[in-house]
Amino acid sequence: MEEDPETGNSARTERKALEKAKILQRERERKVFRLVRRHLKNKPEAERSAEEAAALLLHREAVDELCRRQIRRNVLKRKQEEVFDEADELKSKVKQLAAAVKQANHLVVYTGAGISTAASIPDYRGPNGVWTQLQKGRTVSSSDLSKAAPTVTHMCIRMLHKEKLLKHVVSQNCDGLHLRSGLPRQALSELHGNMFIEVCTSCSPPREFVRLFDVTERTSLHRHGTGRRCSHCGSELRDTIVHFGERGTLEQPLNWKGAAEAANEADVILCLGSSLKVLKKYACLWSMSRPANKRPKLYIVNLQWTPKDDLAVLKIHGKCDDVMRLLMEELNIQIPEYDRAEDPIFKLATPLRPEEVQSHNREVLAAPDGLESPSVENQQPSEETSSLQGGWFGRGYNKGRRKKKKKAA
Ligand SMILES: [Zn+2]
Repeated sequence: MEEDPETGNSARTERKALEKAKILQRERERKVFRLVRRHLKNKPEAERSAEEAAALLLHREAVDELCRRQIRRNVLKRKQEEVFDEADELKSKVKQLAAAVKQANHLVVYTGAGISTAASIPDYRGPNGVWTQLQKGRTVSSSDLSKAAPTVTHMCIRMLHKEKLLKHVVSQNCDGLHLRSGLPRQALSELHGNMFIEVCTSCSPPREFVRLFDVTERTSLHRHGTGRRCSHCGSELRDTIVHFGERGTLEQPLNWKGAAEAANEADVILCLGSSLKVLKKYACLWSMSRPANKRPKLYIVNLQWTPKDDLAVLKIHGKCDDVMRLLMEELNIQIPEYDRAEDPIFKLATPLRPEEVQSHNREVLAAPDGLESPSVENQQPSEETSSLQGGWFGRGYNKGRRKKKKKAA
């Protein structure tokens, strides 16, 4: 296996020369861009010297490219800005929404992270959202997700359902707060899972174990095992989370069937606190195959731009809790306060077996007075501000991206 030194050398020389040429070319381009950018930035057109104007004319392509980039940047910036309607406008918009809710035959609500921000759960794409922070290369610290409780919005949604004004809730949140507000399970689709539920898929039908702590501590993209075992068949349990880049296959708690049926029958859809960037990709939620006038009427409550804004009957720029408070006032419905003693999760939860008590480090939901939480006393104190590792946002997201990039390269 001897290599001809001469051809080896010349091939290498050629390759090197080629690379050098490429580098020089890139350097020239960068210089042009720098020059053009300087000329464009410093002065308005009228004040440019003949020399500067000539330079810009010479590098027409670079000028166009820079202008295109600037426009893209502006659009992106505008889409990320949070907009607030003035109080009067907000009120009159909510009046319209209330009329739509009253008249609806089949109201369905879609919810996103924006409805949980008041519960100290970071939202996803807002200016301080998890996604935005990760994009900027910052780490996201977990501020006690398990201490979060249902917000005003969660309680309003539950009341709308109780009053038979609302048929179904489709949520992309994994925080379990809809369930904890007392919303019945059959009225709920948690499309991306529920961080308090682990399941045994070896049992048939799959057996659910509701826990009082975040079960996703060890899970991430394509790795769902939680390390605990099914008390019936001994197989390893898995989380129910659909990580970014995965397709959810579990029937529950995702309840795609319920979501698709609800969307199909809906005449009004109210989207609360979702950027809709992910939800818009789920075709069955939007009845787009129907002509526009046969589709459900769309009402959107979100501070930022969403890709469905142009299709909405009404876009309300307000915080979900504020809008829902006004809405309930219009509908003359009392908003119940969240009551730990009535939180269904404490009755649904399966206690850990003694040998499992050390199987996680996540904080356990404190049981309401009078109801003893089975594993609390033996609980290890968890680290105060552990960096967030649970799969349902950061980790899964990054892995998905990296994979895609590799493929593209
Ligand atoms: Zn099992």
